[in-house]
Amino acid sequence: MEITVMKCPNCSGDINYDPHQRVVKCPYCDSTLNMDTEGRIAEEELRRERMHNADMQAEREKYLKDVKKWHLKKKIYYGVIAVATCAAYLADKFIKDGVGTAIVAILLIVMIGFPIWLNSVVPNAPAAVESGFKLKRGVGNTVKLYIMSILSSMGGLLIAVIVEDIIN
Ligand SMILES: [Zn+2]
Repeated sequence: MEITVMKCPNCSGDINYDPHQRVVKCPYCDSTLNMDTEGRIAEEELRRERMHNADMQAEREKYLKDVKKWHLKKKIYYGVIAVATCAAYLADKFIKDGVGTAIVAILLIVMIGFPIWLNSVVPNAPAAVESGFKLKRGVGNTVKLYIMSILSSMGGLLIAVIVEDIIN
């Protein structure tokens, strides 16, 4: 015999019943329930709850994907900063016609502006995401981006010095 569970609309107690039964009596409050109506309402509620859970799951997955994309943008940015710093230093040493200075000027503008922009596009977390997974937007995040870009630039400089040493 197939058994289904539903909540009693009167006392919220769990009622086990055979879905073929037409009339069910709640064992807790003795309410008599007409399953043609009550069963349909309970099924509809269950269906809605499942759909809601699926929506939340989809929202959550989309957010985690957006966060990954954001981190990728950040890593590409750090890489560009390191490469540009390295190029500026080497251009200054070996080309000496203002190319290095021009790269530094562009680099400074990018390094001032990009962290502010990157912080502004931190994806909005839906309610379904646990707080541990949430990416924080704000001054703290921007400062962190600034510090990391300076470190990336210093990394690029270090590579440039090593390259210079190899060439000379
Ligand atoms: Zn009841």
